[in-house]
Amino acid sequence: MFAKLQIVATYGYISSIVHEIGGDEVEISTLASSDSDPHFITPKPSFIAKLRDSDLLIKNGAELEDGWLLPLQKRAGNSKIIIGSSGYLNLAKKVTLIDVPENGISRRDGDVHAHGNPHFHLSPENIELISKAILNKLIELDQNNQKKYLKNFEIFSKKWSNFIEKLKIDLKPFKGWKVISYHRVYDYFLRYFNIELVETIEPIAGIPPSMSDISNLENRAKNLGINLILTDYYHNINSAEYLSKKIAVPYKVVPHDVKIDPNFSEDIFKLYEKIANAFKN
Ligand SMILES: [Zn+2]
Repeated sequence: MFAKLQIVATYGYISSIVHEIGGDEVEISTLASSDSDPHFITPKPSFIAKLRDSDLLIKNGAELEDGWLLPLQKRAGNSKIIIGSSGYLNLAKKVTLIDVPENGISRRDGDVHAHGNPHFHLSPENIELISKAILNKLIELDQNNQKKYLKNFEIFSKKWSNFIEKLKIDLKPFKGWKVISYHRVYDYFLRYFNIELVETIEPIAGIPPSMSDISNLENRAKNLGINLILTDYYHNINSAEYLSKKIAVPYKVVPHDVKIDPNFSEDIFKLYEKIANAFKN
């Protein structure tokens, strides 16, 4: 009897997909909580212990963990999960980012999306690519359970494509809607379902708006036919609320990540549903 594969995922959405494919054969720990700003996670001592004991680290990549993960990896001193080793999986390498600046990097001060938008897990197509990458990695590290992983993957894959087909139908009435969001965190989702992200409340990704930024946005937005304002759990809702009143457009607070509990009662399906509900309800 082999010990279960110990996996650390930086964000809840990753854990949710690992759970779908790894099932009972793997143990999963999640580092970031779903109500924190994914760009700025405050490290806890427990993170180092989790990293020290893991066989596999799966990260989002695309600079999302740049502010916090690397020092923890170093302190954990676990050679299995260092960059380039077989116990290290960077999901960003498996997808195509949007908003990549022409020269490869934005020169705007404080831009946390300087190399492109890292919130690619909100594209249904990327979930397929990510789950395939996770399947391949699990098989590589634990060949004994290859059949189980493959079977779980097939079940998940089918369930996911059926779910997205249904979501496409549900969201069809909102095609062409115009949205303002606080941060460009839902952009992959909106693009997939043909909803237009017209403006963001932040002037630059990662930079909070000043009063004049908000009043300029208010003036621009008045004549743009905006349908909905989206904001996340971790930014202050005051500016979304203010703008909503000024331009008479409703705002909704929606999650950006899966909230993981020991029973995995929340999952990637629920996350997508909650975002879709911002339009439907
Ligand atoms: Zn971001």
